Amino acid sequence: MKTVIVGGGAGGIGSAGAVRAADPSGQVVVYTEFEDAAYSPCGIPYVHGKEIPDFERLFLAGKEAYVEAGIDIHYSTRVTGLDLARRVVTVAGEGEVSFDRLILATGFDYADPGVPGSHLEGLYYVKNIRRAMEWDKVLDTTKTAVVVEASPLGLEMVTALPHRGIETHLIDPHPWALAEAADPDIVGPVEDSWAEVGVKMHFNTRLEAFLDDGRGHVRGVRTSEGEIPADLVVVCTKKVPRNDLAEAAGIEIGSTGGIVVDERMATSVSGVYAAGDCIEVPHGVANIPLQGLSGSHAYSQGKVAGTNAGGGRRSYQPVYVPWGMVAGKWMIGGVAFGETLANALGIPHVVGVAEGVSRNRYYPDNKTLRIKLLADPGSLRLIGAQMVGGQGIKERSDFLAMAVKSGATLTDLANLDFAYSPPIGALGEPIVLAAQNALAGLAGKGG
Ligand SMILES: Cc1cc2nc3c(=O)[nH]c(=O)nc-3n(C[C@H](O)[C@H](O)[C@H](O)COP(=O)(O)OP(=O)(O)OC[C@H]3O[C@@H](n4cnc5c(N)ncnc54)[C@H](O)[C@@H]3O)c2cc1C
Repeated sequence: MKTVIVGGGAGGIGSAGAVRAADPSGQVVVYTEFEDAAYSPCGIPYVHGKEIPDFERLFLAGKEAYVEAGIDIHYSTRVTGLDLARRVVTVAGEGEVSFDRLILATGFDYADPGVPGSHLEGLYYVKNIRRAMEWDKVLDTTKTAVVVEASPLGLEMVTALPHRGIETHLIDPHPWALAEAADPDIVGPVEDSWAEVGVKMHFNTRLEAFLDDGRGHVRGVRTSEGEIPADLVVVCTKKVPRNDLAEAAGIEIGSTGGIVVDERMATSVSGVYAAGDCIEVPHGVANIPLQGLSGSHAYSQGKVAGTNAGGGRRSYQPVYVPWGMVAGKWMIGGVAFGETLANALGIPHVVGVAEGVSRNRYYPDNKTLRIKLLADPGSLRLIGAQMVGGQGIKERSDFLAMAVKSGATLTDLANLDFAYSPPIGALGEPIVLAAQNALAGLAGKGG
């Protein structure tokens, strides 16, 4: 059996390994437009910020590892068409290539800002590691940069650039950073910490144009609030699925623009699977389709697609989207909904908030942690959470995702059995305090 995979990112590489495991004697061919596969794009902002000393560390495996594993990766090679009836893909420079099973893991592009000047030099779209290595040299001489949009990548780049001594401006059309996912009280401390290092934030501000210096290089941006001069613009617009091939081949595309798949990652066409940022999957609480999640989702979906394409059985479950990241001098994170998103979707909820610490107060370097729990008003089942703190955000996000998934209630969390030792926790676990505060608030209202 021959499986062709289009895409060498987390979805494609996850798929390739899983096909090999499920069908050791089968042939696996991967196509990627990039010069490399199996590197972590997630680490790029931290090399730019000098937290990670070099790009070489971001490579997870050498090219020879794939040869040894029997995975035939064609680098710098573009697939230009799919003929699903004849079971062939058209590959630039190779012609038609047949397949028995096809996996699409074509990933994402950053949304086109849709303003004049998008052809100019000096616009940086952070993705390919080779380009990132070149851009890193540019950062050595950059004096002023504009980051367009406070997306997750935008937050990382706004955090990284001041570490290089670069005057950094952030423009975003929303009233606060990461406004589509995070609540203002969660990102407030992050914005304060950016202000401390001189970041200039321009919220409620629309990008109108990239400005030409007369030699084809960007000299700044024009916004709804005026011009900002800059020698570099980092475009961190939201991720959009890259589905031109799938769409042209007649594969069903969903309301988000992502490929529709079932729990086996099978598309609407028999023998064709898809994984990663090019697909949409259901949200575990709201049962709405979600698209463009994270590298960890893409990799897990790839494992499912590859196993099934290779003749095994594996299924993917709805997602609860635990998330966490460093922004400014804080860590922020959560699961499912914050208040802003729940309100926007019309999801009824009660809230419990607590301020706690993630180490005992007397232990050096203890950090405060603000946590907010959202629960269904009737059943008191947890439906979301958000946090800002200095330690333990990822672990709490992951735990709370499991709590949402398993139907834990505020009462369960208020009576949680938790670990304590001064360097790693406090006697008052913030999750417990927030749940107790929510219950006390309800009791106060006669609930
Ligand atoms: C700078 C950066 C930071 C990130 N940080 C995080 C993080 O902190 N945590 C996290 O979980 N995730 C992170 N991600 C992951 C990211 O957000 C995505 O979720 C992830 O990259 C999706 O993987 P994918 O394989 O679906 O798609 P992509 O990574 O977009 O890969 C798509 C692949 O398809 C190939 N391709 C597309 N079309 C064709 C074609 N026609 N022919 C041949 N090849 C084609 C491309 O060459 C590429 O190899 C980060 C990504 C970037 C770029």
